[in-house]
Formats: sequence, C-alpha cells, structure tokens
Amino acid sequence: MSEGEGSGPPEGAVVLDVSEVSKSFPGVHALRGVSLRLGAGRVHALVGENGAGKSTLIKVMTGVYRPDGGTVRLADSEVGFADPIEAQRAGISTIYQEINLVPLMSVARNLFLGREPRRFGVVDVRTMNRDAVTVLRDYGLDVDASVVARPLRTLGLGAQQMVAIARAIQIDARVVVMDEPTSSLERREVITLFEVIRRLRARGIAVLYVSHRLDELYTICDDVTVMRDGSVVHTGKLAELDRLKLVSLMLGRDMAQVKRNGVTAFAADHGEIAEKPVLRAEDLQVRHRVHGVSLDIRPGEVVGLGGLLGSGRSETAKAIAGGMKRDGGTVEVAGSRLRRATAGEAVRAGVVLLPEDRKAEGIIPSLSVRQNIALAALPRLSRIGLVSRRKQDEIVAYFMDRLRIKAAGPEQKVSELSGGNQQKVLLARWLCLHPKVLLLDEPTRGIDVGAKAEVQKLIDELAGDGLGVLLISSELEELIEGSDRVVVLREGTVVSELDGDQLDEAHLMHALASESVAAEAENSEAGDDR
Ligand code: ADP
Ligand code: MG
Repeated sequence: MSEGEGSGPPEGAVVLDVSEVSKSFPGVHALRGVSLRLGAGRVHALVGENGAGKSTLIKVMTGVYRPDGGTVRLADSEVGFADPIEAQRAGISTIYQEINLVPLMSVARNLFLGREPRRFGVVDVRTMNRDAVTVLRDYGLDVDASVVARPLRTLGLGAQQMVAIARAIQIDARVVVMDEPTSSLERREVITLFEVIRRLRARGIAVLYVSHRLDELYTICDDVTVMRDGSVVHTGKLAELDRLKLVSLMLGRDMAQVKRNGVTAFAADHGEIAEKPVLRAEDLQVRHRVHGVSLDIRPGEVVGLGGLLGSGRSETAKAIAGGMKRDGGTVEVAGSRLRRATAGEAVRAGVVLLPEDRKAEGIIPSLSVRQNIALAALPRLSRIGLVSRRKQDEIVAYFMDRLRIKAAGPEQKVSELSGGNQQKVLLARWLCLHPKVLLLDEPTRGIDVGAKAEVQKLIDELAGDGLGVLLISSELEELIEGSDRVVVLREGTVVSELDGDQLDEAHLMHALASESVAAEAENSEAGDDR
C-alpha cells in the first residue's frame, strides 16, 4: 500500500498548502490569516506559547473545524474535509497527545482497524498478526506473534504511541501531524520515534511536529513556523534561526529592545530576606515531568520559577504542595520534613498553592465570597473551637479589606466578581490559614491590567510580611520585576538561576533558549546579544 522509498514526490514539493486561514470562536480570534506550507520529505516544526493557535490550526487542517476564511490545499486540490476520517482518507494522519486507539483490542487489530486482512469475509487473524509483527519491527518495536495478539493496553505508553504512528502511516499518509508526541515518552522511546520520523522523511511524507522542546526541534526538524496570538510571526528553515531568536519570536520580545537590568518603579523590594530557608525542596522527581529539581525559598523572598511551556514549572509547584505524586526527593518546611507528601500535610505545615486554573481547581462559582474564603479555614477554625459565624465574618471582612476585594459584600456570589477579584478571593482563602509559603502559579493570567498590578502589589506586600513566595509566570516582565531571583527550568531540570544584575530579560531569554548551562554562561559573558 505504501509507496516504496524514493517514489514519492520530489523533496520539498508542497504537499499541504494552508493559505490565509482564519478561525474565530466567541470572543477569540484564534487564527488570523495563517499560512503554512508543508513540503514532501520535510519535518516542519510548529511552535508557539500557550494559546498561540497551534491546535486550532491542526484542527482546521484535519477537518475537525471548518475555517471561517482561507483555503487548505492538498497536493494542488482544494480540500474541505467534513471530518477527521475524511482527512485521513485523503492522506492526512494525526497523532494526538492522547492516544486514540482501543485499549482492549489486540495490538494487531488496532494497527489494522478497518483494513484487517480477510479470508472468506472474516478477519484473518493469523495473517493480521504476522503482518503486524513485520510492520512494528520495522518501527523498531521488539514484538512477536504473542505480543501483537495481546490487548493494546498491556504495552507501555511509548509502544502504544508507536502503534498509533505505525497505524497512521499505514493508511497511505502523505502528511503526518504530531502534536507533542514525546510528552509521555521515555528517552529511549524518543530515539525510536526519531528514527521513525527520519524514515517518514525518506519516504517523502510531510511531517508537522508540534513541541516545546527546543533540543528535539533542532534534532529532527527542517523547517519552522512560529505562531503568536493567532498569527504566523516567522517561517523558514530552522537551521537559519538560532535558539535565542526562536524563543524571542515565541514570546514576542525583540532581543534588541529587551531591557538589561531594567529596574522600574515596580521592581521587587521586599526589604529583609531571612537567612534560613522556610522551604527547602531537594531533588524532586515527577515521572516524565520533573527530573531532580532543587530549590530554596527564604522568608520574605519571592523566588520566580521561569521556563517555557512544558518545562515542569506547575508540576514542580504541585509536587511541593502535595497536589501531585512525588516520585522522589524531599520537601522541608521550616526545618521539618514533609513525610506523607499529601496536600493536607503541606497545608498543615504552612505551604499553600494557588493553582493555574482557578476555575477548575479553586473557585466554587455557586458559593458566596464569604463561603469561598472560609472554605479552607473551616476545618482549622473548628479544631481550635467552634466556628462561630461571627468569627468567620470577622476573618472574611479582614481579608476582603486587606486584599482590597471589590464586591458588593461578603454575600455576593463569587461568580459575579471580575477575574482579578476572584483571584484575590482564592488568595484570601489560603491566607486565612496563615501560611509560611505561598506557591503562585500564573497568578495574574487572564485578569485585566489594573487588577494585575493590584495582585502584583499584593504579592510584594505578602513577601514584605515575611512569607516565602514561589512565583510562576510566563510573562518575563512579571517574573523579573516581581522576583528577588529566578530559577529557570527546562525539560524538568534547573538550567540556571538568575539574581543580582543577571536578573534581566536578556539573561532570562538566554537561559530559556540555552542548550546547556555552559553555553548559556559563555553567551552572557560574551554579551553578544545586543
Ligand atoms: P495552542 O494550541 O497554540 O495552545 P489553541 O489553538 O488551542 O492554541 O487556542 C488558540 C486560542 O483559541 C486560545 O485563545 C483558545 O482559548 C481559543 N480556543 C481554542 N479552541 C477553542 C474553542 N473550541 N472554543 C473557544 N475558544 C477556543
Ligand atoms: Mg495546543
């Protein structure tokens, strides 16, 4: 079925041509005139920060969404797929992050689903299994007839993904789209995947590769398209774009305009920072996400946690706060070790986390401001006595005032508040517990400018009161101006720590883009970034 090696279209010939595609959702212009051309036998990186429009573009290409405007042409004929199955029949296969196969069916059946070899009308299991072994071995999987007969779910995640890829390619694919294919793979499996991708390339297939991992992009991709806020901001050969430029395009910061030691009126100034850390995390491990992160936070200090998407920032915070299982490492609060690694234990020790998605993980929209604030404190208050409504009212009033929460009153439904005020309500909920350490994951995302400045000021004040703060932010400016020092993560490890006169956008961007700590240091020594 598949074309023999070398018999495909000439290398570089345009296989898929997306032109001026637009797509809006209520209130969001997700794609604004996006063009993208995929060449035969070329691996094309699609990069951009969260919300840039990558997934929407893929969905338009693969028939999940219809574009509002623009065209998609596949090898010279305009296409408008009614659904993903039609797109797949035309030769566009998508491998999603989540593997959409049937876990209970056999490996071989999954591989050939819908195209099983038949004899006298029934599936010829023996032939199917034999073919499956041949195909999967060809993709570097060590399987035999008994393995392919087993349910798919008995394979490891990487092997399952390889089955998904092999399946996609069997269907005469001309274009293969991979949306973050390596996010759950082991290192060894990534190497196998890259061999497969090279084989696809040799067969003249166009591959679209979405990933945030710079090392991977530079290993496997030929071309690159960078998206930001629904538009393409750059497209060209990847080898002609250095890492720093790539990162600056993704983040929308021009290196030439980047501030060096740009101290502004808002720069963090928390006064006294104590010597002894209030929080000490050592060698934290979370499977696939965090590989040996260590960090300290001292009372009165705001430690920024920087990194590109997927670098393990949120997972690090969750591993500290017990919101995610730790596979290794230790957390100490004020000198005593958290042994159980549960959220309850962390809260009792004084560590609280404000998660990234306040709608999904925090705010209870149907309850009042008062109820939302009192939620975490209730068990605590009732341990020291009974929770008198009066006591509760006092505490709520105090924090509404202290955090300058704008609401008609404590009984207003929290869902009626602005995003910024909802965020403050969440903050109040945790501050009722008098924490020692505050972990804030994107505390100002999605709130308006005025409220943002308010929340930033508040963080500053809380540190001034002696709290240790961990601040995760994708905004370079917020991170630099709000932190006393910034720990930079890349692919689950600490690559750099910036403080003093290294704490500026130029150094931070170098760290985000760095290949290795050594290379980064060299670059900043040379000061060749101006
Ligand atoms: P990326 O994959 O680059 O992170 P997406 O394509 O998922 O970006 O999202 C682009 C923008 O479109 C975001 O602002 C997102 O919130 C919005 N968006 C995506 N899909 C939908 C949808 N089905 N309904 C409403 N808004 C959406
Ligand atoms: Mg996406």
